[in-house]
Amino acid sequence: MPAPLLIRDATWAVVWDAPAKRHAYARGMDVLLQDGRVAAIARHDPDAPVPAGAEVVDGRRLLVMPGLVNIHTHPTSALPARGVREDHGVPEQQMTGLFERLQAFRIDQEGQAAGMRLAYAELMSAGVTSVVDLSQPFPDWLAIMRESGLRVWAGPGFADAQWGMAAPQTVTWMWNRENGRAQFEAAKRVMQEADADNSGRLHGIVFPAQIDTVEEDLLREAIAHAGETGRPFTTHIAQAVVEVREMIRRHGITPIQWAAKIGLLTPRSILGHAIFVDEHSSIGWHTARDIGLVAEHGATVAHCPTPFALYGEHLKHFGKYRARGVNMGFGTDCAPHNIIEEMRLAIVLARNAVRDIAAADTNSVFHAATVGGAEALGRPDLGRLEKGAAADVVLVDLAHPLMSPPRDPLRALLFHAADRAVKRVIVAGETVFAEGRPTRLDVAEAAGILAESQARMLRDARGRDWRGRSGDEIAPLSLPLH
Ligand SMILES: [Zn+2]
Repeated sequence: MPAPLLIRDATWAVVWDAPAKRHAYARGMDVLLQDGRVAAIARHDPDAPVPAGAEVVDGRRLLVMPGLVNIHTHPTSALPARGVREDHGVPEQQMTGLFERLQAFRIDQEGQAAGMRLAYAELMSAGVTSVVDLSQPFPDWLAIMRESGLRVWAGPGFADAQWGMAAPQTVTWMWNRENGRAQFEAAKRVMQEADADNSGRLHGIVFPAQIDTVEEDLLREAIAHAGETGRPFTTHIAQAVVEVREMIRRHGITPIQWAAKIGLLTPRSILGHAIFVDEHSSIGWHTARDIGLVAEHGATVAHCPTPFALYGEHLKHFGKYRARGVNMGFGTDCAPHNIIEEMRLAIVLARNAVRDIAAADTNSVFHAATVGGAEALGRPDLGRLEKGAAADVVLVDLAHPLMSPPRDPLRALLFHAADRAVKRVIVAGETVFAEGRPTRLDVAEAAGILAESQARMLRDARGRDWRGRSGDEIAPLSLPLH
């Protein structure tokens, strides 16, 4: 256990108002972290005793807030796509380049591990203390999670089908059911290992990769397994127009209606990303039931604005989902893993989509990125600062120029400073990130390894791409090389 940590006289704190079930501001607060928990949180008392051996942090010019909960990321595959995916898309597929890239680009284990290290450092730098890591497992996966000190839900992916394409306007599903079954069995072992980890910070999350790539019987088994083990469940659903059209072709109903029908929507279900609901303008299906179904079943939406907004698409109405009772949480999906900037973009997109200032605001997105995610993971002790909660805390530097003047520190953080003002990130009372660096996670060699691995990935794309192109031909540099 780390030494007790006392933050004295914090200028601002975001505290949990339990009766009202919402965050509130408090000024001039003492916060004591001890034995992995928030041991005390009260108005500053200059005469209060300091526990033996405690580290004392001067809280004047600090905002103390709960650690952010990121419920959808792919840290092992996100960074190899940096510099590749930002301007890449297939116009015939509503601009998304997902299907083409997944077929052409395969990152090796060295690249996965190095990318993961850098991605975890990014996650922490933006104040994340809990993260759902959805990946293809590889040997060092859990060891790197443990090394980071973060609280991680490991979601080893499994699927019966892989996407392919033979022409820009078509996506094909290449089925291999034995493979899906074997991946599910392997995933169970990895989740068990995570749950049994001594740190108490690793957990499993059941992750059939996509609603359209897993057969009904395996999906039913997966949700039953989540129920039996008490683990959360997640899958990609309503994330692409191509997927929604295919699911309607197969079942005559939208993927969300089908998921409800086969029992996948539960209070422990996280939907990545439930963007293309029946009411979405790019779908225009005749029903208007999807959002209501998600709410009725108590499922959570993992809202990740950036990767979809890149293709001119996004979840249209954050406010309407919330108003209809959907629990909203935040994820970063891809790089950059900047959940603070995702909150800002969510506000901007929601207001632009529906021309309503109330469609989203600082309070509602911050709630989603903390309590919303914690509820989805079944952890009422996360995402809030109150006595007895987990000691997952972020210290924000109010002296940073972009936080000035700190009249409303969350607005300053979300709309102005973002990660630049994040000074220190604490998980279970232990500092995992301080002054711009992870304290436990080794990232020294990662950048070099990642660059070499990415170069191999781009070169080898020639053997996988539907037109036999290299990575540089699929996604040319943004400027010609002079
Ligand atoms: Zn995803």
